[in-house]
Amino acid sequence: MWRLRTPPAPAVSLPEAPGEALETTETPDLARALSDAALALQNEHDPMGILGVMAAQMQRVVPVTEMTIYIANYDTQRFVPVLATGPDRDAFLAESFSLDSGITGWAFARGTPENVTDTWTHPRARQVPGTSVVQESLLLAPLIAGERKLGIINCYRLGVGRFSDDELKAASLFAHIAAAAWHNAQLYAELREAAVTDPLTGLYNNRWLRDAGERDLASVARDHTSLALLLLDIDHFKTVNDSSGHAAGDLVLQRVATRLRGSVRTEDAVVRYGGEEFVVLLRRCGAAEAVTIAEALRTAVRQVALPADCPLEQLTVSIGIAAYPEDGTDLDQLLGAADRAMYTSKHTGRDRVTRALEASAPSAIVSFPAGRDRFPRRSRGTALSSQEAVPIAPPPP
Ligand code: GH3
Ligand code: MG
Ligand code: MG
Repeated sequence: MWRLRTPPAPAVSLPEAPGEALETTETPDLARALSDAALALQNEHDPMGILGVMAAQMQRVVPVTEMTIYIANYDTQRFVPVLATGPDRDAFLAESFSLDSGITGWAFARGTPENVTDTWTHPRARQVPGTSVVQESLLLAPLIAGERKLGIINCYRLGVGRFSDDELKAASLFAHIAAAAWHNAQLYAELREAAVTDPLTGLYNNRWLRDAGERDLASVARDHTSLALLLLDIDHFKTVNDSSGHAAGDLVLQRVATRLRGSVRTEDAVVRYGGEEFVVLLRRCGAAEAVTIAEALRTAVRQVALPADCPLEQLTVSIGIAAYPEDGTDLDQLLGAADRAMYTSKHTGRDRVTRALEASAPSAIVSFPAGRDRFPRRSRGTALSSQEAVPIAPPPP
């Protein structure tokens, strides 16, 4: 591959950029560098973090002028640059290219480390338009873990024939260790993700709520911010299953999940709490704002398409709201308060939003009916006693 830069200059007289690694003919203590690299890679569990460790450790195993790490995206059949060092860093990071393109594609297809002594003369050299050319050596180390080709590390040195056979072997060893660590980190991340994800809807599951939800609450308490919890239960969902079958019911649950996720901010969390029940955690949200959002969710669910043979006119949800700290100060208290409020929504006609006023007083409920005209309105600002359960009109959005 041709690697190109501006402004044009003869390779030998190109100055090193400040802070860049210098080319060196010193042989590093390879065994030490490799064992340090293995340790550092094992200690990093984040797949993206591993890339940074990879670049730093590779620099110790085979010092280079520039380095680029690409991952192979098999969906798009392209290399995606994920890390680059050196003066052309930005240009490298900006360019994604086909898996069979250039010297990189050639080495990746071979699946073996390659020492290209002079990129000018390589038949698969590829020119990046609009940039000038330098003469350089390129060492390519495909990242292969078992049967999986994950990506490739490209190492550059200015000038011709600048990598030795020993360095090729060292890079090859390093690439094996790095690929294994990276693959393990990816598997670990996928497992962690799966453990907190509901497979039907892709939403967070109850385990996530118990873990991250508790952490959220702790940080809310620490930072003295607000948080509201909504509990949503689909109305008459059994009717969907009974009339249209379980598979159709599943599809409706997926549609509801998409609507809910699309109706809240990215910082909010939507959880499939169980069967046809969902929890929404609204971060930095007080009770009044939570009512507005709950109304928006209630309206959003009404837009969900039902199977043709389903006798329900529309899909609706009953919602209960609990706010921190008024309605509870831990997750169980908030869930309990929201659950009681949700049941009040059920018992007062479904398709409505109810807010729990006090977690400790189950009867202390304010209910917001769906049809504004079906219920008497209270003038806003009128105080409700803690024992009142009088439905009032929802506040304007
Ligand atoms: P209500 O208005 O009182 O909430 O009535 P409902 O019919 O929604 O409540 P009920 O608890 O009687 O029924 C809930 C139904 O949800 C029963 C159960 O089969 C169904 N369900 C739970 N999980 C799933 C699921 O993963 N897929 C499908 N298709 N149905 C589910
Ligand atoms: Mg239910
Ligand atoms: Mg239900």
